[in-house]
Amino acid sequence: MGEVLHKLLERNARKYSDECGVMSLDYGEEWTWAELNSRANGVAAALMRAGLEPGERVALVIPNRPEFLAAFFGILKAGGVVVPVNVRLVKPEIEYIVNDCQAKMLIYDGGLDVIGKEISEDCVALTNVWELSELTNSEALSPSLNISVDDVAEIIYTSGTTGKPKGVVLTHNCAYEVGTMMAYEADIRYQDRMMLLMPLTHSAPLNLFMIGALYAGAVCVVGNFTPQAILDTCQQAKTTHFFGAPVAYLLAMQAKGFAEYDLSSAKCWIYGGAPMGKEALELVRSKFPGKFMSVYGLTESGPNGVALFPDEHDEHGGSIGRRGAVNCEVKVVAESGLTAQAGEEGEIYLKSPSVMLKYHNKPEATEEVLTDGWIKTGDVAKIDQDGYIWVMGRKKDVIISGGVNVYPKEIEDVLAQHPQVADAAVVGVPHDQWGETVMAVIVPKGEAPKPSELQHFCEKNLADFKIPKFFRFDQAIPRNASGKILKHQIKREA
Ligand code: ATP
Repeated sequence: MGEVLHKLLERNARKYSDECGVMSLDYGEEWTWAELNSRANGVAAALMRAGLEPGERVALVIPNRPEFLAAFFGILKAGGVVVPVNVRLVKPEIEYIVNDCQAKMLIYDGGLDVIGKEISEDCVALTNVWELSELTNSEALSPSLNISVDDVAEIIYTSGTTGKPKGVVLTHNCAYEVGTMMAYEADIRYQDRMMLLMPLTHSAPLNLFMIGALYAGAVCVVGNFTPQAILDTCQQAKTTHFFGAPVAYLLAMQAKGFAEYDLSSAKCWIYGGAPMGKEALELVRSKFPGKFMSVYGLTESGPNGVALFPDEHDEHGGSIGRRGAVNCEVKVVAESGLTAQAGEEGEIYLKSPSVMLKYHNKPEATEEVLTDGWIKTGDVAKIDQDGYIWVMGRKKDVIISGGVNVYPKEIEDVLAQHPQVADAAVVGVPHDQWGETVMAVIVPKGEAPKPSELQHFCEKNLADFKIPKFFRFDQAIPRNASGKILKHQIKREA
């Protein structure tokens, strides 16, 4: 039953001490498991010397690089709770998270020196992480604290696509179960290499991939996100597994020299975090060698959830799958409160040992989404005749036009099929008569199509009230690091 996360690292440091544990092409680093473990011990010793008590939060504001892992495990070894914060956030956003989680300490990258103590009165801003992890095993042993799998390990903030980010409280066991699921379902074997390219501040790269790698005794590669980096890292480091949002694949395909890359080491390309339409998926699968697997989940589920397995892609690509991944149950609940029948709309519910304990300091929000161990995802879906689940959109991303619910994703999927559309986003804009009406932002492929032509194209697949009334043409759709469309931003600019 479960394991404390840093014990997994210590196991690897014993079992595979001389083997590469973490490497980064960008930073020219390669550490063995033993080295990573001793650096984590160094961080733990420094944090305890600075007065960290068990259960206190430490905000970790450093980019994807090996030191992130040393700091992550160091905080856990010292009994602390890791609060990963994306370095690309601006100061007020970092401030919000640091204050919301009541961080006692903050470990930051050299580049963020300016933030220092200004961020919060009560927070001790520690020096940059490189100095902390320089204290290696000669000085620092792993602290012998009594930490249990049910203790809180992480507070991960949601991306805030539908409102202010919320702190999702996850125990050691939650993250362990997610990593175990990944190792099992993606068949991670000894010496496989997982590419950690999405920001480690997000639950999928952190728990699915980093912990998954540890569980299987596999090697991690850490890099910075660019489309070219996926290809370079796979070719040079011979990575076997990659997790990325759909947009990462679509961008990589457009990278210069894509066809010349040797991607033959890849065993499984894992995607999720945002919807990938059937057409986009087919295109991606035709370009990348190896198997594909989709994972659907959310920060609140650890993110364990539903998987579409490689052998299901030919017939059911575009759906999120039919069954929960290892240790996860799924159901779609109709408005009536009963399980939805084929063709009926409902909300996706997930249940697993990875589901969050609660939202940090938000008992009412927690009560709204957690019932009897089930997490209500807020995603609306339909089940087809074969039992496969198709996400239609998010409850909070619904346009209510003349009292009727319109899910933007359905319209975006149709627009994406137009040969002159490279990307599309749909939002609701205020309308005197209907309350809200549909507006589409289009990134054209070559010459921009006429709005009337797009409307005509939509007529074949969509009811008239779903057809966009307004169009805007732009060079890119604003998205966050996990590939989600920043609808608030589009609405602000509408
Ligand atoms: P906030 O709750 O603050 O708005 P967020 O929900 O964007 O933040 P995440 O937990 O990163 O934060 O996102 C989870 C959501 O991402 C899911 O509820 C779902 O809408 C979407 N999602 C995740 N995986 C998939 C997938 N495979 N297919 C379709 N949608 C997905």
